Amino acid sequence: MDWRVRFVDYPEQWRRQRDELLPIIEGTIAAGDLMLRQQLHDFEDHLAAFNSSRRAVGVSNCTDGLRLLAHALDVGPGDEVVTVAHTFIATVSPFVLRGATPVFVDIGPDHLMDTADLADKVTDRTKVIIPVHLNGRTADMVEVMKIAAQVGATVLEDAAQALGATLDGRTAGTFGLASTYSFYPAKLLGALGDGGAVLTDDEELAGRLLRLRDHGRVAKAEIDGWGYNCRLDNLQAAVLDYRLSRLPGWIDRRRQLARLYDERLRDLPDLGVPIGPDADARRRDVFQNYPVTTDARDRLAEHLRADGVETLISWPIPMHRQKGLGLAHWNLPHTELLCRRVLSLPLHPELEDWQIDHVTGSIRRFFGAG
Ligand SMILES: *Cc1c(COP(=O)(O)O)cnc(C)c1O
Repeated sequence: MDWRVRFVDYPEQWRRQRDELLPIIEGTIAAGDLMLRQQLHDFEDHLAAFNSSRRAVGVSNCTDGLRLLAHALDVGPGDEVVTVAHTFIATVSPFVLRGATPVFVDIGPDHLMDTADLADKVTDRTKVIIPVHLNGRTADMVEVMKIAAQVGATVLEDAAQALGATLDGRTAGTFGLASTYSFYPAKLLGALGDGGAVLTDDEELAGRLLRLRDHGRVAKAEIDGWGYNCRLDNLQAAVLDYRLSRLPGWIDRRRQLARLYDERLRDLPDLGVPIGPDADARRRDVFQNYPVTTDARDRLAEHLRADGVETLISWPIPMHRQKGLGLAHWNLPHTELLCRRVLSLPLHPELEDWQIDHVTGSIRRFFGAG
């Protein structure tokens, strides 16, 4: 396929970063800095500062970050973990695999946790509540924290898609006890492979996570408990530290591109667009994705494909409709409807304005709006 607009453009990303990244990669390898070295500590410090958190712990991926948190909080059988089904399976699996019962909340018009439904679904067995800041937009953390306090639940934020987003001037991921991030290559801040982090203001928790990610070690040969091997590779940390320094500019570009999409698509009556970057005074969204909605979703995706535009349907099958997960008893009408209607358009900082013209022109033609 000869794409004119890739959903994510890794070759273009590399072309633009090669001259700065190659010396970093070469220097890190040449020095033999491969595991738990200064590059990782520097990245953790810079990441914590970027997010206004006290501590950052680099881990192998976001899923493992949640796994370490589930362990640290001793989540187990009899505990209920309340989250959304409109998310990646990884938000839920680390808790289910420890024997907890997942409880699913439906979503609101912005594709995020519906806090009215959350209030109905928490119980005295609710141990953890996990809002997901999907598509680069912060969930309603004011309400979530209020509801969590009423039942004494711990809040963990899945911020895999929202590094740098804010609500009321406060950074996503700093409301709950801890938050997790993914550096999967397609994410806002991507590694050259897998990577993740846990951020927290709780020094004691950060210390436990540091030990859990490295076999329970407190020193080279001293172990204070059972642990895992969930380290963030030092080479990835070196790459991520460079990319983190560029992230503010990339987020600005993402917001600019979202503004262009918004201007050119929001008048179409049969297409739903995300809340625009300037439309919500309380939030600064970082647009990890640009999900549009339409009843003609599959035909629109095919039409765009024919015009050389690559799109993504993140979760065509709602999580609770996946066979083999034992979740078929859940009824989440808004989640199910969205999974039939949603389509993510390309949005990444390497996109040129002409490519947005190409995508929006194709969409307007599809809807007969020229
Ligand atoms: C990507 C993603 C994850 C998983 O991240 P990994 O680093 O691949 O483990 C979890 N939750 C959400 C919302 C994600 O988008």
